Amino acid sequence: MKGKTRVVNVGGVMLGGGNSVKIQSMCTTKTADVNATVEQINRLEGAGCDIIRVSVLDESDAKAIMSIKDRIKIPLVADIHFDYKFAIASIENGCDKVRINPGNIGGEAQIKAVADCVKAHHIPVRVGANTGSVEKEYLAKYGKNEYSLVESALHNVRILEREGIEDIVISVKASSVSLTVAAYTLLSERCDYPLHIGVTEAGTEEMAIVKSSAALGALLLRGIGDTMRVSITDDPVKEVYAARNILRAVGLEKNYVDVISCPTCGRCMWNSMGLAQKITQRVRNIKKPLKVAVMGCVVNGPGEAKDCDIGIAGSRDYCIIFRGGEIIKKIPSANAEEAFMQEIEKLLND
Ligand code: SF4
Repeated sequence: MKGKTRVVNVGGVMLGGGNSVKIQSMCTTKTADVNATVEQINRLEGAGCDIIRVSVLDESDAKAIMSIKDRIKIPLVADIHFDYKFAIASIENGCDKVRINPGNIGGEAQIKAVADCVKAHHIPVRVGANTGSVEKEYLAKYGKNEYSLVESALHNVRILEREGIEDIVISVKASSVSLTVAAYTLLSERCDYPLHIGVTEAGTEEMAIVKSSAALGALLLRGIGDTMRVSITDDPVKEVYAARNILRAVGLEKNYVDVISCPTCGRCMWNSMGLAQKITQRVRNIKKPLKVAVMGCVVNGPGEAKDCDIGIAGSRDYCIIFRGGEIIKKIPSANAEEAFMQEIEKLLND
């Protein structure tokens, strides 16, 4: 397992050093549209987003940061490419972190100006390298692989270090799962900065979640990753739910209601699928360590779901509800849903 990274404070949210893995997302709104951006951030926070990033493309976006910050509770990161002036304006308007690549915001004087501003405001910087931003020299030297990606990121990190900046978070994203895993694994061996993990350009919902789960799951299970973003070409709220589910699946988030359900087969003669889906929706935002089982048949169900807090298994005519392996109720299948939902509500309100 990877050793601890150093701790970086992003507007009061701690990244690294064994702190819990924080979930990030990025607004899809025009940042200067303060109402739309705040509305989206509040939805994202409600879904479990810990840190939000916005793009700063011009002066109006940078200026909007102050008004947005007044109306949100989670830390805000300004994402800037190419123009150092927008980085400075974003910092002066109160962003909690900037994402820049020093190599693409101008020459030494510009980098120094941003670095001085970062230090004066005591905020961290994320160096965000990805396969599309690797400098030509590294591509020529190593090819398009984890070595060029990591060297590119560390090159940018060294520029910041030379300016006396210590609070740095790094990402090395690729759209390939294997390259993402290889790059972060290599990077984690080369430095102890907190790592922002993610797959870039992961695609639309279905494939993006599969790619992100594969890559981020592999990394998180090895102890790599201090903050994560799941990229999905869709409503960013889906990114937050996906990130949260990845953390739950790898066992890093335990305070939730785990709904386990069998896939059903020819032995299932009632609507266990519908009930499992309904319960999953009902409990998705509840923070309570509970395990609920919905099993398709009474033959195998109770045995397979023995360790759950409450479970149901059905047949054509009746369902049984069990707790800790003991049957507590036997009811006609037609009334099963209502009776089981009542039992779950009791546990949730306990
Ligand atoms: S629990 Fe019963 S219905 Fe579900 S998959 Fe197993 S045998 Fe089939």
